[in-house]
Amino acid sequence: MLKIKQLDLHYGSTPVVQNFSVELAKGQIGCLLGPSGSGKSSILRAIAGFELPSAGEIFLGTTCVGSAAVQLRPEARKVGMVFQDYALFPHLTVAGNVGFGLFRSNASIRRQRVAQMLELVGLAELSERSIHQLSGGQQQRVALARALAPAPELLLLDEPFSGLDADLREALAKDIRQILQHEGITALLVTHDQHEAFAMADQLGVIQQGRLQQWGSAYELYHQPVNRFVADFVGEGH
Ligand code: ATP
Ligand code: MG
Repeated sequence: MLKIKQLDLHYGSTPVVQNFSVELAKGQIGCLLGPSGSGKSSILRAIAGFELPSAGEIFLGTTCVGSAAVQLRPEARKVGMVFQDYALFPHLTVAGNVGFGLFRSNASIRRQRVAQMLELVGLAELSERSIHQLSGGQQQRVALARALAPAPELLLLDEPFSGLDADLREALAKDIRQILQHEGITALLVTHDQHEAFAMADQLGVIQQGRLQQWGSAYELYHQPVNRFVADFVGEGH
């Protein structure tokens, strides 16, 4: 469903991601793990269409949506994204945020879809609240509902649990996994928390300074790490 082939990303002349290749089948949840500054958010932004690759190709299904030559606009990609800082619209209500991407639908369909999404993330009662009257965990759910509302084929989640306490992180991780499975959505998640990654993902990658070190199941990463960096990063004691 998602296929990235030998992706290179630069900021100016500085390479940030090099020769990055991964594949996810429909309905799978992938996870990128790596230290701060290793290029995780840059990769998600390139998939969503906010960064132009300097080389390589990004396929959604059989369509190349991004390469040095092809740059499909973000809103044409059927990709939903939850940003590292949620990026909610503070001047809109919960319902206003969730319905934001549905501008092409008529008002009654939009209302219905917003209600359905808020039900899905457990926020039906808060639909008319302002964003600043919500807790961090509730804002995270709004961001998730907003990303899911246009029925994306691929969902990108950039550190969706940062800033939340451990209990809430675990509960949300479980909820999100259930929601994605229920909706049959393919997802790529970024985190630097290996417990979260192992709890949610079918396929995991460890990235170091813009280079993917290994891509495989939690079992493979844990028991057959390809190098010291992967072993240290996912191993015991981390
Ligand atoms: P974190 O875990 O801290 O979120 P990350 O793995 O998501 O880190 P990126 O945000 O992808 O890392 O950044 C990778 C590198 O690219 C960093 O060195 C960062 O400073 C640099 N970088 C990110 N965005 C830009 C930009 N718009 N212009 C120039 N350099 C950037
Ligand atoms: Mg980041």
